[in-house]
Amino acid sequence: MSGRVETRLFVDRGRCAGSGQCALAAPEVFTRSGDGKVLLRPGPGADVDQSRSAAARCPSGALSVVEYEVSEA
Ligand code: SF4
Repeated sequence: MSGRVETRLFVDRGRCAGSGQCALAAPEVFTRSGDGKVLLRPGPGADVDQSRSAAARCPSGALSVVEYEVSEA
């Protein structure tokens, strides 16, 4: 089976420790709320490379970038 590969960014604010690394790594994707926790910026789609970089720098594992295949049958 082959199909289209899509990428999705997941944010778990409950795990966010408010370090701000994501907003430094990917300022077009992430910002922070008044309590310092991560917020996604509104927009069409998050840059995948920036999102991966931010997830790699997140000290609490609050960010994940997942690829999955969508069947086009
Ligand atoms: S890098 Fe992780 S812990 Fe730090 S603000 Fe972003 S999501 Fe929260």
